[in-house]
Amino acid sequence: ADRGRGIVIPDDWPGYRLDLFTYPAHYSEDLDSVYIPHGVIMDRTERLARNIMDDLGDHDIVVLCVLKGGYQFCADLVERIKVLSCNSSKSLLMRVDFIRLKSYLNDQSTQDLQIIGAESLSVLSGKNVLIVEAIVDTGLTMKTLLTHVRSFRPNMIRVAGLLVKRVPNSSGCLPDYVGFEIPNRFVVGYALDYNEYFRDLNHICVISESGKQKYKV
Ligand code: 5GP
Repeated sequence: ADRGRGIVIPDDWPGYRLDLFTYPAHYSEDLDSVYIPHGVIMDRTERLARNIMDDLGDHDIVVLCVLKGGYQFCADLVERIKVLSCNSSKSLLMRVDFIRLKSYLNDQSTQDLQIIGAESLSVLSGKNVLIVEAIVDTGLTMKTLLTHVRSFRPNMIRVAGLLVKRVPNSSGCLPDYVGFEIPNRFVVGYALDYNEYFRDLNHICVISESGKQKYKV
């Protein structure tokens, strides 16, 4: 199911000026630009839902949402697949499960990746699993997760990633379904956080230097 890199955002893309959109006033000093507007994310997600439906329609799948950053993308993707299941001759029976990973502190990846809430994954045995992740950076998280999920012996694993960063992907792991390929910049919003802030922002944005300082731990 290789559909390539998704929408490719070039290195010199400056984003949109903040005042062209609405966003929470409490973040007005903390952002540089709107990198991907919420509406574009939703439109792209709609197409990813169709691709998934074309490939997996009439199967039963377990959607495995990777928390915390993946909750918004997962909810919106599942919603779009639901709509397609109602309005076409194909339908996709979905169960939804959750796994939580943590590796970032400030805007740096840390080596120790923790998998939280993994006990219940024995239900994945023999199932078709769709892992839904917000962002793939070096790919190490995805690699660790794939190894972990494989150990429960699912029938099939597919991965949907909203964002893939254009960085040396040290793991060789890329999602089957990619929303956007983005430059190597730290982005927030649409459930992606910086030390737990910015999840309450609809657009995907680039954080400002002062924003980084303000929410640093
Ligand atoms: P990887 O293991 O692929 O290097 O890192 C993946 C994880 O790092 C993601 O699941 C996400 O939690 C975090 N991450 C990587 N890049 C970004 C980013 O630009 N913004 C945010 N908020 N998190 C990121």
